[in-house]
Amino acid sequence: MNILIINAGSSSLKYQLMDPDTGVVSAKGLCERIGLDGRLNHNAHGRKVVKDIPMPTHSEAITATLNILMDPADGVIASVDEIDAVGHRVLHGGMEFSESCIINEDVIKAIKKCIPLGPLHNPANLMGIEACQAVMPSTPQVAVFDTAFHMTMPPKAYRYAIPTEYFENDDIRRYGFHGTSHKYIARRAAALIGKTEFKMVNCHLGNGSSLSAVKDGKCMDTSMGLSPLAGVPMGTRCGDIDACVVQFLCNKYGMTVDECLTMLNKKSGVLALSNGLSSDFRDLEDGASKGDEACKLALEKFYYEVAKYVGAYAAALNGIDVLTFTAGVGENGKDTRKAICSYLTFMGVEIDDEKNSIRGQEICISTPNSKVQVWVIPTNEELMIAQDTAELVKAAK
Ligand code: ADP
Repeated sequence: MNILIINAGSSSLKYQLMDPDTGVVSAKGLCERIGLDGRLNHNAHGRKVVKDIPMPTHSEAITATLNILMDPADGVIASVDEIDAVGHRVLHGGMEFSESCIINEDVIKAIKKCIPLGPLHNPANLMGIEACQAVMPSTPQVAVFDTAFHMTMPPKAYRYAIPTEYFENDDIRRYGFHGTSHKYIARRAAALIGKTEFKMVNCHLGNGSSLSAVKDGKCMDTSMGLSPLAGVPMGTRCGDIDACVVQFLCNKYGMTVDECLTMLNKKSGVLALSNGLSSDFRDLEDGASKGDEACKLALEKFYYEVAKYVGAYAAALNGIDVLTFTAGVGENGKDTRKAICSYLTFMGVEIDDEKNSIRGQEICISTPNSKVQVWVIPTNEELMIAQDTAELVKAAK
């Protein structure tokens, strides 16, 4: 089976052609500068191809993607019929979607209804969907939502303690993101430890970071909120912050709320704490090793806040059996994992330094004596999208 996975942004569109059974990616690429001029970056047969192709809209980007996938030299399929279905990553499913679903007119309407909740991403995701529908009308399309996995949270986790009318009239609540990754890790953890009933905390630590508390495969709480700004400090996002900071800055500096939020989303986090040095953890580690105090603080703050969330979720679940690390920093940052776990010895977490140094594979890094199994599990959101898409399309036949 071939599933085309599409992740459409406002001026870019990423694609992968994947076999959902094996996870093998036969081709992948990126259309960028959509709406400006247009460039296609394509990888297949171990080769990279870059082509300037006019892309006034997402429709031309999808056409360019299909053309290169069918190209006699650089392509991997002979016709569009070899694509069994398309899986679209959609940022915000609001309260409308608790799982992935086959796209029809009602689904499009519901995704549109979620635009106020995901004003930057949902319109772009819709452009990707509509472009595919136009160019390949007989191929089934599936929407996979970043928020869906978190819809099993109980009200005590998802409600904000603000007047009910904002929840009832405006859907203001915690949603959470990175759901496709959290779901993938929860499934892999279950397969790796050979159990379906267990309590875990997953730390998705990348440029954007979020944690989730998962019981028996279901999400019970997560650190991001109405938007991805909440939770732990990230590359450029501040994470949890007192709302009065916004009021103070707007009043004092004449900033608009939007300007203030742009600062909190794009100029904050470890980038800000390192005095603007970098949002990349490798640069921060490098700086810290040379004695840069701001880099040290940025890292210490990050470890501290992640560890606090793990502790909070261990309390929320009344203990945990498994702790998992994933995404760019979670998978590669051995010092990050060690520092976070060093806060958790009180609950019996003990990691093996040698195992913690092994990179790029699914591995249990805790000692046999550890009360909590600690795992590093590389995430694969695309595989999760491909599997959800394949399952839904097979079930519909
Ligand atoms: P995104 O949220 O953009 O998907 P990723 O999950 O790709 O982010 O993570 C990107 C982050 O991973 C970068 O900040 C980078 O610092 C970090 N990273 C990558 N390799 C390493 C490494 N070897 N050690 C520490 N951090 C790393």
